Amino acid sequence: MPPIPGSGLAKGLAVTLRTMTRKSHTAQYPDAQPELPPRTRGVIGLFEENCTVCMLCARECPDWCIYIDSHKETVPAATPGGRERSRNVLDRFAIDFALCMYCGICIEVCPFDALFWSPEFEYAETDIHELTHERDKLREWMWTVPEPPALDPGAEEPKELAAARKAADKLAAAQAAEAAQAAQAAETTGAAGAPTQAADGQPGPGAQGGTE
Ligand code: SF4
Ligand code: SF4
Repeated sequence: MPPIPGSGLAKGLAVTLRTMTRKSHTAQYPDAQPELPPRTRGVIGLFEENCTVCMLCARECPDWCIYIDSHKETVPAATPGGRERSRNVLDRFAIDFALCMYCGICIEVCPFDALFWSPEFEYAETDIHELTHERDKLREWMWTVPEPPALDPGAEEPKELAAARKAADKLAAAQAAEAAQAAQAAETTGAAGAPTQAADGQPGPGAQGGTE
């Protein structure tokens, strides 16, 4: 059936009228900050202490916009006769946000929880080079990362927490045993050094400082 002439116009006007009567949701940014969802992908923060320079993030980044430089250092053996070890030391960690497509792969693949999403998004620059954020800047973003949501009440305790609790319990038990041992030793020494009483009520051979 051929369309009725003017029906398209009527439809369009109906949509316009409907929209005109709806409440506007314009956000007055930048006067009012938007309320962003907690998992917003704004910028990436680096928690340097967790980074082992494994290079996984740089290798997996589809845009090749993560730049990492490092060198090796030799760590002396922890015990006599032990083996020396070598470890990677981070020299440079930078992300070029002019290239980044915010896919989150680097954060997903990092095995050591060194990368996090921050909802901060106000870092536009007039010079594109300024969009390469070096490690200091990436660390600053770290402090804007929101806390993770609380666990479900019925959830299993995370294994890191369980391990930390076990280690703390073990340490506390060792300290308590040490304190008990020290108290026992002090008691024994005190008993040996204490004045002994002879059967006749006079200070015995263990007594000290008596008058002649
Ligand atoms: S979010 Fe994606 S594109 Fe951006 S640095 Fe990470 S892996 Fe690369
Ligand atoms: S994947 Fe994680 S630990 Fe490995 S280099 Fe990247 S940030 Fe560092």
